[in-house]
Amino acid sequence: MPRFELRDPQLGPVAAKVTAAERLTPRDAHLLFESNDLLGIGVMANAANQRRNGIRVLFSANQHINPTNVCILRKTCVFCSFARTPKEEGAYTRSLEDVYAEAEAAQNGPTREFHIVGGLHPKLRLSYYTDMIRGLKERHPHVHIKALTAVEIAHLARIEKSTTRKVLEELQAAGLTSLPGGGAEVFGVAVRSTIADRKLVAEDWLQVHREAHELGIPSNCTMLYGHVESYTDRVEHLTMLRDLQDETGGFLTYIPLAYHPDNNELGDELGRSGTATTGFEDLKNIAIGRLFLDNIPHVKTHWPMVTPAISQIALEFGCDDVEGTVVYERVYHDAGAETPMMLSYEDLVRLIHGAGKEPVERDSLYGMVRTFAPDDPIFDPEHERPNTSATSGDLVQLVGTGRA
Ligand code: SF4
Repeated sequence: MPRFELRDPQLGPVAAKVTAAERLTPRDAHLLFESNDLLGIGVMANAANQRRNGIRVLFSANQHINPTNVCILRKTCVFCSFARTPKEEGAYTRSLEDVYAEAEAAQNGPTREFHIVGGLHPKLRLSYYTDMIRGLKERHPHVHIKALTAVEIAHLARIEKSTTRKVLEELQAAGLTSLPGGGAEVFGVAVRSTIADRKLVAEDWLQVHREAHELGIPSNCTMLYGHVESYTDRVEHLTMLRDLQDETGGFLTYIPLAYHPDNNELGDELGRSGTATTGFEDLKNIAIGRLFLDNIPHVKTHWPMVTPAISQIALEFGCDDVEGTVVYERVYHDAGAETPMMLSYEDLVRLIHGAGKEPVERDSLYGMVRTFAPDDPIFDPEHERPNTSATSGDLVQLVGTGRA
């Protein structure tokens, strides 16, 4: 049984629960957010993570694709730096041929996942996305497709005068494997009306994920922190995610997302341009996510937002997933992120090794693709490209739904 050295005596009862692998209450989560005992929180989260995942740290060879930045909510999601109105400078919508050309990077690299998200275009129909997914699968049959946030799914259902379930079914039939976790932001009504007034409300976001899970489509979940939300808002948000996971077991990973204030109205209003979240906040959000979301198998750090350096330290704070190669990151770079646009496969393996952990390449469904012995040359000829004949059915599944 681990015993934790704590600087904040208020955390004693929380530590006792972590030691006994008992579920934390929303009040416990509140205490953790209020505490400045970052190392104490981190050591507890590290223990909870190691109990579940050992020293294994996952990454994926993925490529982000953003088909359009045109979005009908451009004026009301005031935290967003990515979206444009159709006629605004910088607005773009890619043809399918453009998307396929960009995806060609997968041809010579080890890409195993396309992560596809974008704006809510007023005219693009569902067929644009199903054709895109089919086209990508034809060209890259071994690559998983993780595509469209719950907000995009609901938007397509409105355009098609259909239901979100039917949209999900059509996307699944085209080859969609899983859903990303974006669009959740913070569920609280007051926060949502301040930063994303016309965005899909909490219940509807959760319902899309519930339907996806019922259809056998796993998904991720997120929380955007560091803007106007209070600790109470964060705890309410995390509780709603945990409740849905109790019901469906369909979330694979939780990703806390750091708000970036550059090039968006909210940053101007808050007078915070250039000041992103602190490393202290980033690590605390990772650690509390691991401690409170005891039913979600993995906690991921999104290095394009918090920097590869903070992501590496996060591996001691309850995190077991460092995202992936990404290749083209536009959403947070438009918001002022100064991180690199991509990390190479080798960079990721070294980053994980450098933290004294065991790197494991995973696929979209958290199936194990490859492990690395410490003296393994990262790119030996045998492994220069992924084993394209492997399917997730062949792979060791890392997913579990029991509590940490
Ligand atoms: S956050 Fe998403 S929905 Fe909101 S404006 Fe940006 S792209 Fe559109």
